[in-house]
Amino acid sequence: MAKVKILNYPDPRLKKNGQPVNQLDDATQQVISDMFETHYATHNCAALAATQLDFQKPLAITVIDYSQEKNEPMCLINPEIIDASGEQFEFEGCMSVYPDVFHEKVKRAQWIKVRAMDEKGDIKEFEAEGYLAKCIQHEIDHLHGLLFLDRLSPVKRKMVEQKIKKHIKRLGKKS
Ligand code: ZN
Repeated sequence: MAKVKILNYPDPRLKKNGQPVNQLDDATQQVISDMFETHYATHNCAALAATQLDFQKPLAITVIDYSQEKNEPMCLINPEIIDASGEQFEFEGCMSVYPDVFHEKVKRAQWIKVRAMDEKGDIKEFEAEGYLAKCIQHEIDHLHGLLFLDRLSPVKRKMVEQKIKKHIKRLGKKS
C-alpha cells in the first residue's frame, strides 16, 4: 500500500477525466487500496476522487468515508447520477483547494439516484440525500475534471480565485 500525493489547485491535472474501469484487476484493486490509505491518512478528509491524486492515468473511482470512526468505507467505480431532484445550498471544501481556508456555498441536488460498481464488481443503484448526495456530486464532478469552484457564479468564482492566488503567494513566502 502507498499513500498518493493529493494534487493542489490550480494543477492542470485536476481537469482530467477519470478513465472508465473495465475490469477489476489487481492493479485496480491496488489503486482502490492506495486511495483509501491516502483518504484515512489525510486530516478531515470526507472523500477523494482518483482524478485529484497523482496517478498517471486516473480511473473513474471515488472513495468516501466521513463517519466519526472512519469505519464506513464506500467505493464508487464508474459512478453516474441517473436521477436527481430538489436543491441544497451548503458549504463545501475540497482537499485539492486548501481545505483549511476555503469553503464556499455550492448549489447541488438534494436527492440523487446513483449507479456505480463497488469494489467487488457488483453494479448497484441507490439513493442518497443531504450530505451524502452533496459529497457524491462533488466527487463525480472531480471525475469529470470539475472542482466546486466551477459551480460558483462567475463573480463569486473570480473573487475566490483571487483569494486563493494570494493564499498561495503567502504560502510561498513562508517556505
Ligand atoms: Zn474535492
